[in-house]
Amino acid sequence: MYPVPRAGYAVPVELRDLPSIDRLLRSVPELPRELALLQARALVAEVRAGAEPPEDWVEALRARVAAAARPHLRRVINATGIVLHTNLGRAPLGRRAVRAVTDIAEGYSNLELDLATGERGERLSGVAPLLRALTGAEDAVVVNNCAAAVLLMLTATAQGREVVVSRGELVEIGGAFRIPEVITACGARLREVGATNRTRAKDLAAGVNVDTAAILRVHPSNFKQVGFVEQPSRADTAAVAREAGVLYLEDLGSGALLEGLGEPAVREVVAAGADLVCFSGDKLLGGPQAGIVVGRATLVARLRRHPLYRALRCDRLVLAALEATLRDVQAGVATPVEAMLRASAEQHRVRSESFAARLAAVGIAADVLPDEGFSGGGSAPGEGFPTWVVSPRVASATTVSRRLRAGDTPVIARIRDDRLRLDLRAVLPEEESRLLDAVRAAVASGG
Ligand SMILES: *Cc1c(COP(=O)(O)O)cnc(C)c1O
Repeated sequence: MYPVPRAGYAVPVELRDLPSIDRLLRSVPELPRELALLQARALVAEVRAGAEPPEDWVEALRARVAAAARPHLRRVINATGIVLHTNLGRAPLGRRAVRAVTDIAEGYSNLELDLATGERGERLSGVAPLLRALTGAEDAVVVNNCAAAVLLMLTATAQGREVVVSRGELVEIGGAFRIPEVITACGARLREVGATNRTRAKDLAAGVNVDTAAILRVHPSNFKQVGFVEQPSRADTAAVAREAGVLYLEDLGSGALLEGLGEPAVREVVAAGADLVCFSGDKLLGGPQAGIVVGRATLVARLRRHPLYRALRCDRLVLAALEATLRDVQAGVATPVEAMLRASAEQHRVRSESFAARLAAVGIAADVLPDEGFSGGGSAPGEGFPTWVVSPRVASATTVSRRLRAGDTPVIARIRDDRLRLDLRAVLPEEESRLLDAVRAAVASGG
């Protein structure tokens, strides 16, 4: 009556060594019965199948129930140095945005109610005027993400017609979002012009015919072409579109509202003559996940009236966070993303040195090493900037990095050249003490 031993488990467990489920449950009267039963059965089944029996069954059961009750989606500390890390949720929100989300989430709101008249209102009344002021565009519409914004923009303006795109801009954004396929999915036809590395304004002009709805410019957010390369400027693209009587649309991706963040500011693209520009809310803007389209009022109105808009529109929590973020930008209050990206290499080195000193004070030797940083999230591709990392001296970087992820506050670190590297750029100042505790716990358990 032995279970079939699995590789790696030399000692089969005799069934008489297994506790009865009933007895286990009676030892934990404080736990919800259904949850405890589920976990007790799973625990016994695993040991029967060859897993190491726990020293203390009751404690093991309590630990399992606690682990199962923990939310899947958890706060983590981003010590990768990548400020806009899509796998880690992209942009942390600023205080004003967090307060707005909490307040609006807890109760009712005037999401679609005009408080002055008591009549039905518009869900974008809060964000649209701010977007107009910050981009110089006539109007704005907001949907779930920039991918949705591209979908809405192309469907509403080019369905059944042709879209001219340079062969150098037939981009894959990631997650199988490829411009040629998106154009097809929108019911439009792609007219590719130019070559992979070189496209001129006259190629765009030659691609236009009676069926053309628009010239689409796609910003190469996640790759860089070097060498013998040329793409038409925005001003030239606008001139060709105007001359031919077609629209100039731009998928800008991580458009910044401010200058100097390594990507074109939305305002510049609008000023260059784009009819519609779309960009993400949670890249350089530093807000919640959202896709924003700004541009000419008549076109934006067409997007808002399109049936797809109803399917892609944002909920009140996103709009609350976005409005608060835009107010911060307008008031000159840096978003967390902006503050992280603007920290100079020297400020970063000083901060890293001081964190290394805090580690040393609790007995963990750490070096501050020069490294290369990236902003991530489809912005400033290939442009690594000089940065600094804190590297605790540990026997096994992989072991400690695994323990850091498994901790109460999971920490996501980097390993390079067999060294554990903590980059503080994307660690919020108020997270530093928790990071210290987490490193201490991960190193103390041997590593
Ligand atoms: C990031 C990006 C997108 C997709 O944005 P999401 O907000 O992630 O949907 C689309 N186009 C470009 C050019 C991008 O950089």
